[in-house]
Amino acid sequence: MFKVNDNYLKLPGSYLFSTIGRKVREYKESNPDKEVISLGIGDVTQPLAPSIIKSIHEATDEMADGQTFKGYAPDLGYEFLRSAISINDYKSRGVDIALDEIFVSDGAKSDSGNIQEIFSVDNKIAVCDPVYPVYIDANAMAGRTGDFNADTSLWSNVIYMPCTAENGFAPELPSETPDIIYLCFPNNPTGATISKDQLQKWVDYANSVKAVIIYDAAYEAYISEANIAHTIYECEGAKTCAIELKSFSKNAGFTGTRLGYTVIPKELKDENGVMLNSLWARRHGTKFNGAPYIIQRAGEAVYSEAGKRETKAQIDYYMNNAKIIRDGLADIGYTVFGGVNAPYIWLKTPEGVSSWQFFDLLLDRASVVGTPGCGFGPSGEGYFRLTAFGTTENTIKALGRIKNI
Ligand code: PLP
Repeated sequence: MFKVNDNYLKLPGSYLFSTIGRKVREYKESNPDKEVISLGIGDVTQPLAPSIIKSIHEATDEMADGQTFKGYAPDLGYEFLRSAISINDYKSRGVDIALDEIFVSDGAKSDSGNIQEIFSVDNKIAVCDPVYPVYIDANAMAGRTGDFNADTSLWSNVIYMPCTAENGFAPELPSETPDIIYLCFPNNPTGATISKDQLQKWVDYANSVKAVIIYDAAYEAYISEANIAHTIYECEGAKTCAIELKSFSKNAGFTGTRLGYTVIPKELKDENGVMLNSLWARRHGTKFNGAPYIIQRAGEAVYSEAGKRETKAQIDYYMNNAKIIRDGLADIGYTVFGGVNAPYIWLKTPEGVSSWQFFDLLLDRASVVGTPGCGFGPSGEGYFRLTAFGTTENTIKALGRIKNI
């Protein structure tokens, strides 16, 4: 009789979003006349930019012609896209990334979940708390995280780095040495960033203890302030300790069309000199058959002059929503974080009100949906996430209702 991978049985249920879904459903059933506004999801709402749509149409036409039809894409991704990435995301920032260090994929969720496969199951991971849940769950599925304690919501074999208002939502170097460190800046869910100098300390630390940093830069396009690294490779020595994950979802609206990439420098080696780049190339070639040609052409269009202009306008649109939420909440006395270099606003719930109580309050009294901070980790208790990805009209309406609570 077959046996399942019992690491999966240790996973807690996906309590957060299923509970939100159930509560919203029940609320709508008992309040059919109320319009519910969601500022809870991390999905974009603006349509794909015109230059991107144009490239999709053109690439689709190519697929209809026997002369230009494309079958399987190259393992690492088409050179036209990797070249655009290397020039625009790296060379423009003074960083040299070779084309064979870039692996095009269907997005950062798969890559952030799958990258752990190339590491020993004995390796110990360190994560921020709160955290994008994929990092921990993927490691739990691989059997790297020990046991889950339902009372504390912590895994026994994970190093947690609390990120709270007290430390400015910047993780401190752990006292126990990790092998794999997950960092994500600008951060989901807190909306926080760290300065380039702070990131440099992490790079120096990782090199000194021979750990690898998995750096999730999915929200890089939202950085508005100076002195924040747009790529970890702006830090000296990062090529010997860091993998970088990027996504086209939030900078260009590809959540539905799917595109991302991972950078693994060839200098990045384990203690025996094994190149992680070769392992990921092997894994990519074995388990992934390439992002669609049409979508890779769409990705290339993001880097065209029109693409840059149009996607910047979309980011400005979302960041204007972020400002509306931030300023609106601050005006009525909330303590708010994030929303300056990220599309996420992380607010402190009122004294004595838990994350879930605040969720219920907002839904009952304002018909507005957000995300309880505790769903991202125990240090998220007492916080609440709102996103700037709605329409401006709904964002203004939601804030008006919150003010009237
Ligand atoms: N990384 C972080 C931190 C995210 O918040 C998300 C999506 O919300 C992703 C990765 C997933 O990106 P993608 O749509 O490219 O899979």
